[in-house]
Amino acid sequence: MAEIRIGHSQVYAEQLGLGANAVGGHNLFTGLEDETGKQVVRTALNNGINLIDTAFAYGNGRSEELIGEVLREEEYDRSRIVIATKAAHVPNKKGVFDNSPEFLTQSVEDALRRLQTDYIDIFYIHFPDEHTPKNEAIAALHQLKEAGKIRAIGVSNFSLEQLKEANLDGYVDVVEDKFSLIYREAEKELFPYLKENNISFVPYFPLASGLLTGKYHLNSPQEFGAHDPRKNRPDFQGERFEKIIQAVDQLHPLAEKYQATIAQLVLAWYMKNPRISVVIPGAKRPEQVADNARALDLHLSNEDYQTIDQLFQQFK
Ligand code: NAP
Repeated sequence: MAEIRIGHSQVYAEQLGLGANAVGGHNLFTGLEDETGKQVVRTALNNGINLIDTAFAYGNGRSEELIGEVLREEEYDRSRIVIATKAAHVPNKKGVFDNSPEFLTQSVEDALRRLQTDYIDIFYIHFPDEHTPKNEAIAALHQLKEAGKIRAIGVSNFSLEQLKEANLDGYVDVVEDKFSLIYREAEKELFPYLKENNISFVPYFPLASGLLTGKYHLNSPQEFGAHDPRKNRPDFQGERFEKIIQAVDQLHPLAEKYQATIAQLVLAWYMKNPRISVVIPGAKRPEQVADNARALDLHLSNEDYQTIDQLFQQFK
């Protein structure tokens, strides 16, 4: 298996992971069933995916609990599974984050208990707080790494300045941030810094919440429930939505060439991108995971990689 190393750590993962915000993420999406969430995780593990990306914030710990239950099932070998989780949200205080050493240390202990494991492969600070010097927050995680409780250190949603402060001692292994074919800001300044400092990158929203799967069309209006966060997102409105769909529509000949779905083709583009370590599409149903997992066998030619890149240049 072609596994990729996470930063300077000893963690290795397949390039395709599972985003688990819809596994137990009842506070983020409506209509989720716990058992379906567990089946989403099992389907990933049974189809060659070995990294599961979760967070305390997904269901206030429920996502971690469900993943922990699957990890305990006898067919799975914990040592072959890479668990990434995150913390910073202060429970019951919406939009309040804490990066203090005490909070992070307690968060790791709480996550270990919910995940029913004795180590976390990748632990991210989910969002920056306003007060904690970022290198002090990372120093606390470094101690937890030395103690064997976590194996790699990550940050998410940090500005480049915050990342530089976090990485003053060179301890940051991985950054998780918003990035996709239609959101390419990170290519400008973040990617060069990550390359220079041997820090891995994991993009979130890689399928642009479903827009990059080919299932949306110009003439059929999107029907989102009242609580669906996509209802008011600019990507799903007006001219921007039209531009995205027009670009996605141009992927059909390539999808046919590889006998792949649009989602698989897009995921293969991330996997061939040298700046991206692991791509973590989310899924609400096991069939979506099984479908996405087939991207592990889709190897784009250099020319086709460039063609896709060019089709989405306008989003740079
Ligand atoms: P995403 O990967 O861009 O889109 C996933 C959504 O697309 C699914 O929930 C599903 O939604 C649809 N989908 C997936 N596979 C499909 C397929 N084969 N065919 C058709 N539709 C398909 O967005 P995301 O799940 O929100 O983000 C990915 C992961 O990134 C999350 O799970 C989470 O782990 C992480 N994340 C991290 C942060 C952070 O702050 N660090 C923030 C956001 C997300 P529908 O079925 O409803 O269309």
